[in-house]
Amino acid sequence: MRISINTPIGELPRVGPALTKRLNKLGITTVADLLWYYPFRYEDYSTITPIVDIHTDTKVTIKGQVTLIANKRVFRRRMFITECIITDDTGSIKAVWFNQPFITKLLAQGDLAYFSGTVEMTKFGLQLVGPQYEKIKKEQTHTARIVPMYSLTERLTEKQIRFLIKLVLPLAEQIPDWMPESLRRTHKLIPLHQALREIHFPTNKNTLVQARTRLKINELLLLQLQSRLIRAALQSKTAPVIPFDETLTKTFVGRLPFTLTDDQRRAAWTILQDLQKTTPMNRLLQGDVGSGKTVVAAIAMLNASRAHFQSALMAPTEILALQHYATITTIIAPEEARIALLTRSKKMLRGKLATSATFNRAIEQHEVDILVGTHALIQDKVKFAQLGFIIIDEQHRFGVDQRKQLKQKSDSGTIPHLLSMTATPIPRSLALTVYGDLDVSTITQMPPGRKPIMTKVVPPEKREAANEFIRKEISAGRQAFVICPLIEESDKLGVKAATDEHKRLQQDIFPELQIGLLHGKMNIEEKEHAMNDFSAGKTNILVATAVVEVGIDVPNASVMVIEGADRFGLAQLHQFRGRVGRAAHQSYCLVFTDATNDKAIERLTALTTTQNGFILAEKDLEMRGPGEVYGLRQSGFPELKIATLTDLPLIMLAKSMAEEILTDDPDLSKNELLAKQLRQSSRSVHLE
Ligand code: ADP
Ligand code: MG
Repeated sequence: MRISINTPIGELPRVGPALTKRLNKLGITTVADLLWYYPFRYEDYSTITPIVDIHTDTKVTIKGQVTLIANKRVFRRRMFITECIITDDTGSIKAVWFNQPFITKLLAQGDLAYFSGTVEMTKFGLQLVGPQYEKIKKEQTHTARIVPMYSLTERLTEKQIRFLIKLVLPLAEQIPDWMPESLRRTHKLIPLHQALREIHFPTNKNTLVQARTRLKINELLLLQLQSRLIRAALQSKTAPVIPFDETLTKTFVGRLPFTLTDDQRRAAWTILQDLQKTTPMNRLLQGDVGSGKTVVAAIAMLNASRAHFQSALMAPTEILALQHYATITTIIAPEEARIALLTRSKKMLRGKLATSATFNRAIEQHEVDILVGTHALIQDKVKFAQLGFIIIDEQHRFGVDQRKQLKQKSDSGTIPHLLSMTATPIPRSLALTVYGDLDVSTITQMPPGRKPIMTKVVPPEKREAANEFIRKEISAGRQAFVICPLIEESDKLGVKAATDEHKRLQQDIFPELQIGLLHGKMNIEEKEHAMNDFSAGKTNILVATAVVEVGIDVPNASVMVIEGADRFGLAQLHQFRGRVGRAAHQSYCLVFTDATNDKAIERLTALTTTQNGFILAEKDLEMRGPGEVYGLRQSGFPELKIATLTDLPLIMLAKSMAEEILTDDPDLSKNELLAKQLRQSSRSVHLE
């Protein structure tokens, strides 16, 4: 039979229906899938140790002759022991296997073989316990080499998968190498088929490094090219020109109850420059919690309104949308812009509740300049008359999709400008790769007068003392947040956790205090009520789920309690913490955890040692990976199997390679294979 890279694995020798099913479980259905199934680690059994040199508690490979092999039945322990004496020129050693009596059928007295495994000291002397064994052949697969280890599934063995991969490995030659050859040579990268061979069965450590480098570059280069092509595609589109109205802007800024920080000024200025261009802005505004991004957005929206374009400000939760609406309507006067609110359950037009029909008509007839809302903005039947500017707040799924969806809601024929805002800074490596199509503005300065928040990881035995501390803060007039994690899978919104905690605090711990509750299952009136009560100081403590955490602004709150903190990422914990410390009071963040493992403690300790969101984001990326932190897993980015988004040198290399390719061949017409490869990647480059 002739096999090719597209042959289904079921047609390979020794692969029956059961094995096919198990391989399918690993996502392997064709020969090509097998080739792309990288080992997750290796055992280095490449050094042969003479028996005389063997020490206890080491991993060794020996080369010797089987001088005796037999099964022993141990009735008392109801098992088989296979014992084997192996001899080389320097001595002998015993190997033992438990419950694998078939080994005596595979290995016989006189056989020359390799044995790789761990040496243990027993009362009978040094023994090799359960070693890998393989008769000496032209080329070894399981011993006497750097041996690949694959992630397995039930009833699938390393030996089986190694056998299959070795079988199909010559077919790696059939996989076309999409990397331009001259570029590959300039950067001293090995050919793709060679990389695939070496990633599975490395000749030595050096070739393994070369293989890993080549395969990592594959992934990173594709990412780079994608973001560059997205950028180029955007640059070829037309956006509404929104002129900068200096007088309007100065008047607005002069009226604010505070002075803008230099960073806010700079960010606003850059954004206003972008809005004047005929190509769509694609900008990320990052700045720590409380650094004042909203007012920067407001300045831009104000200019858009003056230029007769509508703006949409999208927030991730209803609460945050309400709060933005309240803020924006306070700082922008009705004669400057007509502002409306849209969430799933609430529509506000000219300061009053409106029906869907009235509301939608008003948007469509351009009776609204600034529409603040949740995702409902996208889902709802609203249609804009002249949408010129979209702002997405506190979300990590940066915008291409949302822009596409919102674009369809506008007749203007242009692509709206897009500003994403986040309090989770994007580490440089990520900004260069996954978000390479974005321009970035950063607010590093905090408004003056903010004090660092004292952060403590509180051990369980100090809980009483912590409660006393909270009581003291509250009697001094302050307020506290308590954030609860999702505990059970079935309790996706954390409603149960928050409800239970609320009850516990109210009944057992602080019966004398007013305790509010806020979770995602409450309806909008209940949420608003809970929020307003807390803002107005009617409740002393607000118990909330993580779902509704973002963006709440209650300057009088001075204590942030986080339960089950190990369940959150550092970036998110930092966000929670940012809810306090917004006024002159000294504020505190008390972090509780039941976790005892070092990694969790290390992560939480990082939170206590810095208030810098950038450092925490880097740390989070390093410890939890980008999928966890930035929601990349869900957002349709191609899966990175071998490259990591923390490997800055390789990312830089991929970046310069992408530049080289596109300088010479901007539309990839000379690199057909590469263009095809990109089309197959999951993130589409098309914007409409
Ligand atoms: P974030 O960047 O987290 O979205 P906000 O925009 O909600 O921050 O701002 C946080 C608080 O800081 C708000 O109450 C806002 O009015 C206030 N603020 C913003 N800029 C300044 C400034 N330059 N000086 C003082 N307070 C400011
Ligand atoms: Mg904000």
